Amino acid sequence: MSYLPKVPDTAGWVPKDWQKDMQKAFRRLEPLLDFLHLNPKDAPYALALDTAFPILVSESFASAMRKGDWLDPLLLQIVPLAAEKNSSAGFNDDAVGDLPAQIIPGLLHKYASRALLMVSPHCAIHCRYCFRREFPYADLPHSQKAWEPAWEYLRRDKSINEIVFSGGDPLFLDNRQVQSLLDTAMAIPNIQTLRFHTRLPIVLPSRMDVQLLELFKAAASVKSLIIVIHANHANEINTQVARALGELRSNGALLLNQTVLLKGVNDHADTLIALSHRLIQQGVLPYYLHQLDRVTGTAHFEVAEKRGLEIIEEMRAKLPGYLIPKYVREEAGQAYKSPLY
Ligand SMILES: *Cc1c(COP(=O)(O)O)cnc(C)c1O
Ligand code: SF4
Repeated sequence: MSYLPKVPDTAGWVPKDWQKDMQKAFRRLEPLLDFLHLNPKDAPYALALDTAFPILVSESFASAMRKGDWLDPLLLQIVPLAAEKNSSAGFNDDAVGDLPAQIIPGLLHKYASRALLMVSPHCAIHCRYCFRREFPYADLPHSQKAWEPAWEYLRRDKSINEIVFSGGDPLFLDNRQVQSLLDTAMAIPNIQTLRFHTRLPIVLPSRMDVQLLELFKAAASVKSLIIVIHANHANEINTQVARALGELRSNGALLLNQTVLLKGVNDHADTLIALSHRLIQQGVLPYYLHQLDRVTGTAHFEVAEKRGLEIIEEMRAKLPGYLIPKYVREEAGQAYKSPLY
């Protein structure tokens, strides 16, 4: 008897070429609005047509949006608004203190026992509320040689037993690069757990191709493999996504989800309850519900903490404990993500 739901039938899982899928992503607003049957003249909010953080959304994610609905919770995550240009007190470019925590280029060591490597500057989607939207990615190491000091740090500091691969999105690297990361990490005796923070299973399920799954399977037979996905709304988990998650699980990964609490997207208990249910159907446990990081240009997404606490209270009244994410806020300089209840 398995205590997890049945893995969906993935016989014949042959994802197409993910890099080709990426080429087809929407990089301009007009074709996306066309695809969604929306006329910019009818927009209920002021759009921003020129932003330094350009629009980017995969076809797969866009096809899970409701046609003709300006308030679709997936659309609201990626549509650039004029409101991003408003400056707000308390919002700045490095809200979570990543820059002082970057003690070696590409490596953040903020918390005891685990360190985070920013291995890719790229994502398959540009979330408008991104906590690293202002991060100076251009300064990250660009060659194997440039990464060596970070690896050396991980080999030397025996208190670190877990590596978190992040970015950007670490699975935006190609399979050869992922293999090189895994090989290097697995050769470090003090590292017990390999963790990926990635939105690609949600945004570009075709990235979970057969070669990548084989790499994960091999890694999971030697170390603990944890994949933390990022979904904010149940609608993000379409059939393809569900199959990709099933493949990750059956190849040995433990799956967790993190969500950002976002105004207009998921700031209702019913919405987050539906998400928790949808996740567990695919064998994914809710991990964190993040209070928005106060990064420049994201103030219009902020939900008051008081409201967040009400939502959690309502979830508690209706769900088993394992379906309730930890509601946390990241504070620069703190030893862990601060629990809000
Ligand atoms: C969030 C984060 C982690 C992981 O923290 P957990 O509480 O273990 O999930 C690690 N390093 C950095 C820099 C982080 O921001
Ligand atoms: S997937 Fe994550 S890192 Fe990439 S844009 Fe979205 S929030 Fe930022």
